Amino acid sequence: MYIVYSDKYKEHYSSTHHIENPDRLTRALKSLKGEKIVEPIKVDDPQIVHSEEYVNKIRNIKGEEWIDADTYANEKTYETALYALGGALKAFELQGFALVRPPGHHAGKNGRALNAPTLGFCIFNNIAYIIKKKMLRHVAIIDFDVHYGNGTQEIFYDDPEVLHIDIHQDPKTIFPGTGFPEMIGKGEAEGTKVNLIIPPRGSDDLYDELLPIIQAIIEDFKPAYIIFSAGFDGFKGDGLASLNLTEYTFYNLGSLGKRSSAVLEGGYGIGLERGLPAFIKGLKGEEAEYPKEKSSDAVKSKFFDLLEKEKGILRDYWKI
Ligand SMILES: [Zn+2]
Repeated sequence: MYIVYSDKYKEHYSSTHHIENPDRLTRALKSLKGEKIVEPIKVDDPQIVHSEEYVNKIRNIKGEEWIDADTYANEKTYETALYALGGALKAFELQGFALVRPPGHHAGKNGRALNAPTLGFCIFNNIAYIIKKKMLRHVAIIDFDVHYGNGTQEIFYDDPEVLHIDIHQDPKTIFPGTGFPEMIGKGEAEGTKVNLIIPPRGSDDLYDELLPIIQAIIEDFKPAYIIFSAGFDGFKGDGLASLNLTEYTFYNLGSLGKRSSAVLEGGYGIGLERGLPAFIKGLKGEEAEYPKEKSSDAVKSKFFDLLEKEKGILRDYWKI
């Protein structure tokens, strides 16, 4: 599998400690030994995704600066973010994995998306860039970062050509506070935005319930391409969230999209060391078996209440 990576992705950093830092990539690379590394290209048209005003704001950052309470930038941020867009594009072309930062899925057209309090460490939306640049039609995004990909969903909210399936921890309990199942897209795009929710402390067994639903929607939509917004922060103990996922789930997620491409979003510790290589194995279609972690009865019962509601909404649009 081609891994699109460059040391340039380490030039965006903060002088004070931040969980979204260049060491993430060092950890990820260690877990991907043996894969082929290719250099990204740099692009110069973030305006195809973002407003001129937002692009200028990032371009004009001169030194270290906090864009908001969560998100820093430095004098190299703009250039690094352009390489991240180009890395995502290259990974799409090679059916590979874009090991890039800064991440992108919280960045909407004008920056913060859907009234989110912050940009959540993101600068430009890497996955949206692929779709806009290549003018892809009939494409599916599967976003399994533990946080809702509010930027991506906002950008494509009224676009019926983009099926966006986003699995995330219950937004009542985590950033960005939106991403409820009732958010289904608007106009002709109604039904093409799918939000599936996992309660805190949820584990692999709950994803086992969701995967057949995702598969059924994909079979119904028949996308020409599947692209993953790949976050590994749902891994048990990764640090930012409260889910208890293991290799088992990340492998199964990868298996959903053989011959697809993926772009890194979150993942800050053990998720990059163990979740990422399991996902890549699934993506490559390699055989693997991992033990499955189970949720408590209380968590399961919350999950099944949510699932019934979600199925009720989805049945209006999909053969599930
Ligand atoms: Zn995340």
